[in-house]
Amino acid sequence: MAVITETAYQQCLNLACLTTLGVEQAAFACPKCGDLLDVVYDWDRLPVPSRLSEFEAKWSDRLNPLSFSGVWRFRELLPFAPPDQIVTVGEGQTLLQTADKVGQFVGLNPGCLKLQYEGMNPSGSFKDNGMTAAFTHARMVGARRVACASTGNTSAALAVYCSATSYGFKAIIFIGSGKIAYGKLAQALDHGALTIQIVGDFDDAMHRVKQVADRLGIYLMNSVNPFRLEGQKTIMYRVLEALAWEPPDWIVVPGGNLGNSSAFGKAFIELKHLGLIDRVPRLAVINAAGAQTLDQLVSTHGLTWSNGLPDMNLTDRYYAGLDASGLKASTIASAIEINRPVNLKKCLRAIDFCDGVVRQVSDQEIMDAKAWVGAGGLGCEPASAASVAGAKRLREEGIIAPSETVVCILTGHQLKDPTATVAYHGADQENFEKVLGSRGVRRAGFANRPVIVPNDLDDIIRTIALYSESGDANGSSD
Ligand SMILES: *Cc1c(COP(=O)(O)O)cnc(C)c1O
Ligand SMILES: [Zn+2]
Repeated sequence: MAVITETAYQQCLNLACLTTLGVEQAAFACPKCGDLLDVVYDWDRLPVPSRLSEFEAKWSDRLNPLSFSGVWRFRELLPFAPPDQIVTVGEGQTLLQTADKVGQFVGLNPGCLKLQYEGMNPSGSFKDNGMTAAFTHARMVGARRVACASTGNTSAALAVYCSATSYGFKAIIFIGSGKIAYGKLAQALDHGALTIQIVGDFDDAMHRVKQVADRLGIYLMNSVNPFRLEGQKTIMYRVLEALAWEPPDWIVVPGGNLGNSSAFGKAFIELKHLGLIDRVPRLAVINAAGAQTLDQLVSTHGLTWSNGLPDMNLTDRYYAGLDASGLKASTIASAIEINRPVNLKKCLRAIDFCDGVVRQVSDQEIMDAKAWVGAGGLGCEPASAASVAGAKRLREEGIIAPSETVVCILTGHQLKDPTATVAYHGADQENFEKVLGSRGVRRAGFANRPVIVPNDLDDIIRTIALYSESGDANGSSD
């Protein structure tokens, strides 16, 4: 194969197996036992900066695409690829925003809530952080056809990386029927991806794409791909960077396939190992109530990492129960509408290392939190707001203190799912019932309703006067 990197390799996550593969292979599962693969580095033989602040030197080298990228300017911390193989479209130009209005809603002191806005990525979600790394690996192994199953954002990112680069990549996307938000579907179609809509949900699409990738030798871009997680580690590096390399008290992230939470945990495990941080933030992973496998397994059934040997019988029994009851994942937060999270085991490792907690929040809590995020700063899609709703819940439980620094990850852009936003704020009751009421959302307590006025100048002026006096429309209760 094309490139062999001696200081990086892939290793089976199963402690009873630990099979290793070179980085020149595209396997996506352990060939011996089928467990997840991890990218592992021989750090002793690699040049790693002695302090995180040394990465600031890259800021003055922004004409170099590898230093401009918010992922690859940290390339010494994901050193699996020769620099001349890196595929980048300038991802990771994201920001950490202090959001006091949202912080008040969550119950935090001024200055304590920060929102890591990953909607600023080229495809509008954090997925680009992972895609740039996986495409780099695909290029290393000489892959051309690349595929994923997706609730939307993975496919949008995949389509961007195929169409915006010139290495001959062809995108194949599997989606469940009726399950994809319009903003995301629009991206896949607009960027020219072959889009295969199967009759079924995400879990069905995932199952099929694995079979097809296996049968046709297509490169798999789902987060079972361990190289994606390498790129997603850099979200944490950028959070640290924005906090002058001082770890926050909490990282709160929505949990779907659990790639992000797993990547964050791996980032902190490695930073600690390398002596680049001395304190590790706590991790909170937030499920939607309609897709609550992680919360059920961890918070209710007590599933833990157990030093690398988690009791997977618990998981098997839980999934058997799901099958028996015919229960399908269902939440307005479509990006986390997943009942069989592929990175479950890696997430358990992250929770173990970061003294993590798991919670679930309802669609009502998600939509209310989303309205505050929108009113208080940069807007997000429903799944992202689960992090803010989760932080509020943990604050109310007293697990997060008002004076702690909390970073919520806003995983995707507001415009990804305009349907949910318009249903919540709009005046059309029938539409509200159809999109949100049918999911148990009863009230749009923080709706910023459009005001309907006759086409008459005096009426318009009177209305503006009326609403300007009563303060801002957003935040007023029904
Ligand atoms: C993919 C996605 C998630 C879920 O992330 P996982 O890594 O699968 O847990 C959450 N929010 C948005 C916007 C996403 O696109
Ligand atoms: Zn194995």
